[in-house]
Amino acid sequence: MAFANDIIHWYEAHGRDLPWRNTSDPYHIWLSEIILQQTRVEQGMSYYLRFVKEFPTVNDLAHSTEERVLKCWQGLGYYSRARNLHAAAQHIAFNLSGQFPNTYDDILSLRGVGPYTAAAIASFAFGLPYPVIDGNVFRVVSRLHGIDLPIDSTKARPYFLQVLNKMIDRDRPAAFNQALMDFGALVCKPQAADCKSCIFADRCVAWRTGRVALLPVKGGRPAVRNRYFYYFVFVIRRSRKSFPIYTVMQCRKQQDIWKGLYEFPLLEPPNVLVADDLLNTATTHVQKLWPMMREVRPSIVGTDVHKLSHQTIHATFLRVEAIIDDDVQIDGLVELAKVDALPVSRLTDRFLATFSFGDTNGLVKCK
Ligand code: SF4
Repeated sequence: MAFANDIIHWYEAHGRDLPWRNTSDPYHIWLSEIILQQTRVEQGMSYYLRFVKEFPTVNDLAHSTEERVLKCWQGLGYYSRARNLHAAAQHIAFNLSGQFPNTYDDILSLRGVGPYTAAAIASFAFGLPYPVIDGNVFRVVSRLHGIDLPIDSTKARPYFLQVLNKMIDRDRPAAFNQALMDFGALVCKPQAADCKSCIFADRCVAWRTGRVALLPVKGGRPAVRNRYFYYFVFVIRRSRKSFPIYTVMQCRKQQDIWKGLYEFPLLEPPNVLVADDLLNTATTHVQKLWPMMREVRPSIVGTDVHKLSHQTIHATFLRVEAIIDDDVQIDGLVELAKVDALPVSRLTDRFLATFSFGDTNGLVKCK
């Protein structure tokens, strides 16, 4: 218990003052924990404040459209988190009468909630003695006890849980968990750990044995997959000039990255396309899929590389001018002025921020 007392004492003096720490409202804590999965605190902060303002209660979130939730989430990545958040809010609002579950197992049964998040909500909101294990906690505990079990192995979580169950302060689980996470973020950092002024230096195995830089141990990283995205940024006019200008945006429906977000029509070949053939390939592709388009003129207007944890997207944006008859309908046809309201990936958002849809009467900008 000496360790728990010491780290809570340190936390009371040096812990981070974060908005979700000043509440025991499980809904707000849940929001913060889902937002902070795979997201840095600095980046997640503005999203947390936006969600609390836009959806003050779980019922507000439940009654929103998924599209609105995704729009608020835009730029944060890992969009399945937002879809799960919305689905779980609907479950709480419509099946549980708006009452947030208050046991570890019931919290764990919510969509998008894993053992880490369930432990965080259970301890922070309900004072239940469940240790949280995030990257910071893995690092501090590995170093303190000199544990060299790879933290990404299947045995790691049960083993560290055992260790932490002996360390946790059962009367103050929230303070203990938050203290350990903050200690990892502020003192026992991945690089440049502040060992010389660390209050645990005298009992830290890694420091005493010169293994701070070697712990925690990680196994091999999974290979990164390269994907090649060719986007067709249509600029479509109708025969009669009085009609607005359109583009085409499609919702990603498949089980893949960015499900539920909108993007320009995509061609994804298994390999990179040879630059010389690209415009011919694009024209043929457009004529095959959209035979109603006339005077099709593609040109390359941008490239970008977007890195995700396990894949790298090599994107090429092709501006495609085309004309359609006044009565022709196309799936996903949208007026340029309405593009901005659609939830899009950060890759598409970056492109839209710099791209202008040229108009014969002047420039029409989306953003
Ligand atoms: S002595 Fe260094 S490695 Fe050990 S807990 Fe403190 S900061 Fe971390």
